[in-house]
Amino acid sequence: MSANGPDKVLVINSGSSSLKFRLFSMESESVLAKGIVERIGSPDASRTYQREGGEKMTADVQADDHGQALNHVTTMLTHPEHGVLESLTEVEAIGHRVLHGGEEFSEPVLVNTAVKDAIRRYFDLGPLHNPANLQGIEACEKMIPGVPNVAVFDTAFHKTMPRHAYLYAIPLELYEKYHIRKYGFHGTSHKFVTEAAAAYLKKPLDQLTIITCHLGNGSSLAAIKNGKVYDTTMGLTPLQGLIMGTRSGGIDPAVVFYLANKGYTIPELDRMLNKESGLLAISGTGTGDMRDLVAAAESGQPDAVNAFAMFAHRTALYIGGYYTLLGGVDAIIFTGGIGENSHPARQAIANNLRALGVELDDEKNKATFGTLGTISREGSRTPVIVIPTNEELMIARETFRLVSAG
Ligand code: ADP
Repeated sequence: MSANGPDKVLVINSGSSSLKFRLFSMESESVLAKGIVERIGSPDASRTYQREGGEKMTADVQADDHGQALNHVTTMLTHPEHGVLESLTEVEAIGHRVLHGGEEFSEPVLVNTAVKDAIRRYFDLGPLHNPANLQGIEACEKMIPGVPNVAVFDTAFHKTMPRHAYLYAIPLELYEKYHIRKYGFHGTSHKFVTEAAAAYLKKPLDQLTIITCHLGNGSSLAAIKNGKVYDTTMGLTPLQGLIMGTRSGGIDPAVVFYLANKGYTIPELDRMLNKESGLLAISGTGTGDMRDLVAAAESGQPDAVNAFAMFAHRTALYIGGYYTLLGGVDAIIFTGGIGENSHPARQAIANNLRALGVELDDEKNKATFGTLGTISREGSRTPVIVIPTNEELMIARETFRLVSAG
């Protein structure tokens, strides 16, 4: 532990069949090593490891569960030739991405039994993620004992939403009994780009009003008023809102009853709306990937042209709504794989936002891939800025803050 807090912070993002990690040195916020164990539980499991300045190393491994997966990570981190640690005792804190913190968590927390119980309580709201997140935490507790584990919730940054933004207009008792409400996700990313926007625009965070657009395979917007979330597009689950790679985003809920009456089961409908919808379902490209969609739309394929228009239409619709509710904004921020890299997607969204005074600089827009910069024209009434997100660094920072404070 340095004078200010822990230096080596390990960040774990544990999914249902994968475990991603990054080891940070917090003094310089540099990544000492990173990698992933994939296809956990399958005979084809593999791990990829890369240390700072080194080659990417991939190998087939046996990883029947998250414990074994973490074992491959710690073996590489302390490997005599390729490792970056003499011993695991150098890891001073571990930050975990946890999907759903329900109504309980508005901040990252030190993991203890009560926190683990809470993560368990939200299994049914995050059935793919929360169990895997907990497995990652428990594997770390066993393998790297005595080190503080911090849970950083995807929902936490959205806890400031007012009641009139997060309640659904369904019987209130459903909120009281089952906590059915809008929670919002990608909070770590929205928070990271909000803090980065304040620094970039040289504005105090508590005076910053922006719309953050995290556009990736999963996509969500957040309306940020005075540095805090006022509204966001995802809901009880990450299915609500924008049209995504494989998720439908908002549809009339009656579609579900209609199809249920036609004999579709709940698991079939769940799979359809989460995994078989969105750009994958409507683009005719066979994928939910924006690069394929842009290529197909540029070659004039009608379904692709229409899917691209639907994506831009829905995204702009929410941006326009938030702009109005916020009474104008300091900037619109693009981030995520699409927001950072796809200039055609940014342009198509901006074309729908002329009424807000959004004017992109064509050259700057086309030249911006994964780098920080303004892409609107000088004199554009609403500045548009690309800010690459870094959820892992945000988790490391949150972990550092919390452990230093304790
Ligand atoms: P996830 O939500 O899984 O983290 P990402 O943020 O990586 O996803 O975003 C994936 C999306 O970003 C895909 O639709 C992909 O096509 C798009 N994307 C990634 N790189 C580029 C690029 N260079 N140009 C255009 N789109 C890109």
